Amino acid sequence: MGTKRPLRRVEHRLIKDLEETTIPLSKLGEKYGVSRQAISGFIRRKGIKRPKREHTEKCSICHGLIRIAKKPHSDFISSPTIKKLLGLGGGEFLCHIGILRRKGRISQKFGKLRSKRAELAYQIYFKKRLPIGTIGRQVGLKNFGSFIKIHRRLGWDVPDPLFTYDKNDRRKSIFKMIKRK
Ligand SMILES: [Zn+2]
Repeated sequence: MGTKRPLRRVEHRLIKDLEETTIPLSKLGEKYGVSRQAISGFIRRKGIKRPKREHTEKCSICHGLIRIAKKPHSDFISSPTIKKLLGLGGGEFLCHIGILRRKGRISQKFGKLRSKRAELAYQIYFKKRLPIGTIGRQVGLKNFGSFIKIHRRLGWDVPDPLFTYDKNDRRKSIFKMIKRK
């Protein structure tokens, strides 16, 4: 009862805050000198609809995700790395990244790579002129070649390797294979 009266006096202002901002209920409680529960009771009584929290400009997590997504080859940054950079838990990460994907603010592939080894392999692949097998061995990923093939098939934008075999390389590697047998 005691909480209803103070709210009645500020009703117009409070309704405006509730309908036009996404300020958390606890903060509004502080502002109007009542409990969070009093505010949520007020919302129920008045049938107020609150706007969805803006997950782009105003949300610092979304901000951080967009910033990382703007980096070159950002689709190949693994989700554990992104979570670590922003200090996010799994649930939080999925929530904000899902919103940004649905809004088309980030690439649909961003945050989908799970393997840190694949991330590492791609980092080398983008920068160094090395055979795919060598990169795979460096990071401890046996099947980097098939990773690339699968990613391409799924529509990931994997550029051509910097490394290309010339005729001599190919002859040498065939020679090596024969020798190995
Ligand atoms: Zn967000």
